[in-house]
Amino acid sequence: MNRFFFHLARVFPLIPLKTLTSATKQRTIFPFYHAVSNEEIIHIKHLYKIRSTGDFERDLDFLVKNFIPEDILTFQEKLKNNEPLKHNSFILSFDDGLSEFYDIIAPILLRKGIPATCFLNSGFIDNRDLFFRYKASVLVEKIKKTKSDTFVEKAKIFLKSKNLRAKDISESILAINYPNRSFLDELAIILEVDFSDYLNVKRPYMSSDQINSLIKKGFRFGAHSIDHPEYANIPQDEQISETLESINDVTNRFQLNYKFFSFPFTDFDVSGRFFSRIFSKEHPIADMTFGCAGLKNDSCTDNIQRIPIETDNFTATEIIRGEYYYYIFKGLFNKNIIFRGN
Ligand SMILES: [Zn+2]
Repeated sequence: MNRFFFHLARVFPLIPLKTLTSATKQRTIFPFYHAVSNEEIIHIKHLYKIRSTGDFERDLDFLVKNFIPEDILTFQEKLKNNEPLKHNSFILSFDDGLSEFYDIIAPILLRKGIPATCFLNSGFIDNRDLFFRYKASVLVEKIKKTKSDTFVEKAKIFLKSKNLRAKDISESILAINYPNRSFLDELAIILEVDFSDYLNVKRPYMSSDQINSLIKKGFRFGAHSIDHPEYANIPQDEQISETLESINDVTNRFQLNYKFFSFPFTDFDVSGRFFSRIFSKEHPIADMTFGCAGLKNDSCTDNIQRIPIETDNFTATEIIRGEYYYYIFKGLFNKNIIFRGN
């Protein structure tokens, strides 16, 4: 549905951003990315499209022209004190703690004077392991590049034995979910892919030293679960422990005096009871949490919805403008708030 409005924004970009922000009263937006690179990243290649540095800089130019960049702690302070948000602002964040954040993104942001927050999977810091979806992308690449029919045949037999039959091998590898993630390790052995080797050579994640040096430069860090499960696929006590343990790990490891968390994949279907525990008055687990449902309000006001920018070939201009159009459209049916059941 969003894509329809991104297309609409592409062909009809005439309404001034100021009109859209004041009509919707949505003055603060939370765009987010994973990586930026001019080179192909094998572990992301088959999952989603990332921005080149040129496209990323164009996105940022659009953002600073229409919104003031704001630090997440300043925003948190305003939220806590119920201070009115007087100007249009944007709060930028990045998920997964990838090395491109250190090598490519942070230098651009420092040059432009834009603050940002990066959310880390506590189990992957220092390249200790690889996210299961990234493993899937690496395996799909191996299948697509292999000249050996034996590999393809063996992969087919394996996938069939696990009841993962799709028309296409790549499709069925990419459909492997968190509860079945060990299939990816088994398939890697069959395809002679060594994930430890991949981690050592490619260093997909930031090291603790790199993170510490970015903290000194003013960047903020939060948690993004231990190993990136789909919350809808795990029981609630596991959702709580993934959240609690990753926040504790990140805040202790880097001595942070704030506790932020962004949901791995999505917070869709996460219950009101989960949020009551996370934000309990006596023992809060987090100060603020972040989803990715676009421009939307949440009945849990400490859970902020962000706008994913890595969507096909749409520019940030089209996506953000399109999100405002979509927000106005949904407003006609009172559909701009996410209600949380138990
Ligand atoms: Zn993620």
